[in-house]
Amino acid sequence: MRLAERVTFGGGGLDRAAHRRGDAAWLAEAWAGAQVLPLWQGKPLFGAEGLGWVASAHPLLAGRSDEAVFLGLSGGRPKFAIELSDWVPAEMPETLGLFLDPSEQRHPDLPGDLSFRELRREMTRLVPVEAELAATAKGLFDWHRGHGFCARCGQPSRPAEAGWQRRCPGCGAPHFPRTDPVVIMLVRRGNAVLLGRAPGWAEGMFSLLAGFVEPGETVEAAVRREVAEETGVRVGQVGYLASQPWPFPASLMLGCWAEAETDRITPDPAEIEEARWVGREDMLAVLAGERTDMQPPRPGAIAGFLIRMWLADRLD
Ligand SMILES: [Zn+2]
Repeated sequence: MRLAERVTFGGGGLDRAAHRRGDAAWLAEAWAGAQVLPLWQGKPLFGAEGLGWVASAHPLLAGRSDEAVFLGLSGGRPKFAIELSDWVPAEMPETLGLFLDPSEQRHPDLPGDLSFRELRREMTRLVPVEAELAATAKGLFDWHRGHGFCARCGQPSRPAEAGWQRRCPGCGAPHFPRTDPVVIMLVRRGNAVLLGRAPGWAEGMFSLLAGFVEPGETVEAAVRREVAEETGVRVGQVGYLASQPWPFPASLMLGCWAEAETDRITPDPAEIEEARWVGREDMLAVLAGERTDMQPPRPGAIAGFLIRMWLADRLD
């Protein structure tokens, strides 16, 4: 798909300079002149124009280079990120961790126009390279937060390779950041695509079907299995379209097309409250906000991107 990397979090072109991750002398020098993205509870720092970068010389970051992760080089400058996990704001938001946490936190030692915000709310405002930097930082710190102990022997593990590994001082095992593949599919039947909604979703919200790829399974098999399990629809040919890193917390969305061979829908009530075939004309009306029974897909998610590309005949 020629426009694949126009998806949110795509096409950033970040130079990750992975060969520098084990070079302590280079990293120390890079840190001295680096721009650093602070995060708090997985929420990146934002300013008026995009991400809220802070110089590594800022007193808040002094002496904390060993906690930072090296994101790469952008605009010729080293970029790092750091999670301010020990900071407790004066007011803890009740909405923390909700799907769309609307709260913002201002750190007393940082300029007042900078605040920690939920990435899901801000992602479509970022230029591609900043979106990639934010997704990388959030994905890495979510992983560090949830993987403090060695999965082999249970001892506390320590960050290594500028944040791109954890190593166990007990048994020596290396552990690598996790990315979970998820298939998300534009299932076509003639002039219509298959949309579903899960129990508990906001009223009127429908999206493409999706599900985790299982061990021992191809992408194609995962697409066929998920569609059959969730709706009873049988799928034949499957093809790949585009991918999207989705750090909420650790998914890689694999966007596919799939040709349905049957059209009868039998939803699995545990996963799908309702599924329906939606034709092009109806989908255009949904996107235009002209339908009361269906909401357009959320901006930024690959589902909406693939649906818009399908409507525009740009899946080639
Ligand atoms: Zn161990």
